[in-house]
Amino acid sequence: MAKDFSNSQWHGIPRQEIPWYPVVDEVACIGCELCYVTCGRDVYEIILNDKGHRKADVNNPYNCMVGCSTCATVCPTKAISFPSRDIVWNTEKEHKIFKQVHLEAKAKRDKVTMIADRHKAEESIATIQTRMKIRIAGLFGEKQFLSKLQAFIKNQPYDIVNLEFHVATLQGLSENAPAYMDFELTSMQQEEITQFAQKLRELVKENNLVWIDSHV
Ligand code: SF4
Ligand code: SF4
Repeated sequence: MAKDFSNSQWHGIPRQEIPWYPVVDEVACIGCELCYVTCGRDVYEIILNDKGHRKADVNNPYNCMVGCSTCATVCPTKAISFPSRDIVWNTEKEHKIFKQVHLEAKAKRDKVTMIADRHKAEESIATIQTRMKIRIAGLFGEKQFLSKLQAFIKNQPYDIVNLEFHVATLQGLSENAPAYMDFELTSMQQEEITQFAQKLRELVKENNLVWIDSHV
């Protein structure tokens, strides 16, 4: 299905208020279809005229990207024309679009930064060579076990990631039903992990919690 940009906005201006779109000279058009395959916005269709000749037809004019004129540049017979560029420049001035453009630019930069940060985090996780999945259970409520866990790994070449807390029922929690904690013990520096896991196991025991399962 053809894309429809006709009801979109161009930097806050309804697209249909900007008369920027191609016009095809049917006599000059040789039906090469280059405009049709070049345009990524489904502006054109190729039709057969009453003599059975292939011709480019501007089917979705307001799908055209304001300011673009690529199809006119590539048309081998110069059959495609656009209005004067003054239309675009005057629209920019009349509608004072630059406040809106700065907001869009900031959003774009934020998105680029966010994607870069995410890649960095993913790369960092990918470098982790040592990893052990651990499940413990018990009554966590009054033990401040998370704080103890934080203190335990502080200044160590290890980290705890993907920590999840599972509570079977909230009512059960107030009645001291056990909860489960799943997490992964990792080493960023590729340290051997088994001995540290053993110490962690002792911490779990000291806090009257149960080490259910662990595997690498
Ligand atoms: S590129 Fe030009 S000649 Fe070719 S189909 Fe389009 S309008 Fe016609
Ligand atoms: S100017 Fe660009 S967006 Fe508009 S019809 Fe041509 S190729 Fe498509």
